[in-house]
Amino acid sequence: MRRVVTLRCRDCGREYPPTKRAVCDTCFAPVDVVYDWAQVPRRTTIEARDRTFWRYFELLPIEDPRHILDLRAGFTPLVHCQKLGTQLGLRQLYVKNDAVNPTFSFKDRPGGVGVSKAVEFGDPAVGCASTGNLAAAVGAYAVKANLPCYVFAPAQLEYSKIGQILAYGARLIAVKGTYDDANRLAVLASEELGWNIVNVTSRPFYVEGSKTLAFEICEQLGWTFPDRLFIPLGSGALLCAIHRGLTQLQQTGLVPGTLPKLNGVEAEGCAPIADAFASGDEQVRPVEHPATLASSIAIGDPGDARYVLKYVRGTGGLVGAVTDEEIVEAIKLLARTEGIYTEPAGAVPIALLRRLAHERQIDPDERVVCCVTGNGLKTPELVKPEPTAILEVPPTFEALSLITR
Ligand SMILES: *Cc1c(COP(=O)(O)O)cnc(C)c1O
Ligand SMILES: [Zn+2]
Repeated sequence: MRRVVTLRCRDCGREYPPTKRAVCDTCFAPVDVVYDWAQVPRRTTIEARDRTFWRYFELLPIEDPRHILDLRAGFTPLVHCQKLGTQLGLRQLYVKNDAVNPTFSFKDRPGGVGVSKAVEFGDPAVGCASTGNLAAAVGAYAVKANLPCYVFAPAQLEYSKIGQILAYGARLIAVKGTYDDANRLAVLASEELGWNIVNVTSRPFYVEGSKTLAFEICEQLGWTFPDRLFIPLGSGALLCAIHRGLTQLQQTGLVPGTLPKLNGVEAEGCAPIADAFASGDEQVRPVEHPATLASSIAIGDPGDARYVLKYVRGTGGLVGAVTDEEIVEAIKLLARTEGIYTEPAGAVPIALLRRLAHERQIDPDERVVCCVTGNGLKTPELVKPEPTAILEVPPTFEALSLITR
């Protein structure tokens, strides 16, 4: 029996057969995958399975398990942060550490599902439009699938990310422009060349992977909802997927209770959604030239902005923006309190939480989860050494004893 029952328009509810399609013909809104709830297993069945995100198979849009591409991604640690929590005055602070996925960001989830779906569709090539991390993930899963991979990314990507993408053998199409320019070119490639650009061609399927982050957090909290989540915002797809995942846990009865407050976080140099939230608008004004060192989330025209605003407001959360200085401080704070090293996009949740905690806007007993979405080794140049941090010595004990006295 088919797992995916239909694709349903997020706005008007019109339904479509589960084939390749990104939006509704009537209102151009995204379409979402609808599952057969009867196939969703019990908690104990899920708990006994492999510790990868594929343990939620019945809520993922792959029909035939033979199409699964498995790099052992997901089921990443949910870390109870006692030291950071004490500094911020929070007793129940957790970090969901997705920096330790096989390709070093949460993009293993949508990338893995997206390329698996391309295999199921029998497509000749895969690709993506990316700010860097999705390209690495799609590149790695394309290796598993034996498919050629073409990634569209802004030309001024950090070299640490380019090296990883090229190592997997992907072809990098370095677009001289912003992410939004790269994305527009990828749409044309999808239409004209028949490549499965996973976040364009089969977007409704691809985005499903990200909701496993929500499934894991709740399962790791003993099948309960936290009180509040902090989530970085690029296109907004991750926050929307987390909202969808939480709703599905509630609707299938796997987790009882009310949804957590969803807090979205942008960088100030690219904060279209935070601006709209602050002014009470439902639409965003795109940022033409994003200017932030958080390149993974530097998306000036976020496709899912309208829904982010809806879900954030609907759960009583907020959208905030943090400065590049706050981001670098947060990278160091997380590394020095919890031993977790993240890139700027993964640090924005920590930066906003820190500010709100200092303003006493978070109750000390709230269960708070920060989604740390990417690895610090992706951006190694950001933490500048303090004058006393590096002690250069000639190779003698005498020299060592002089400087350590
Ligand atoms: C892609 C990405 C995000 C944001 O994802 P969206 O789904 O585009 O909102 C956040 N953090 C990291 C590290 C990313 O790579
Ligand atoms: Zn519609």
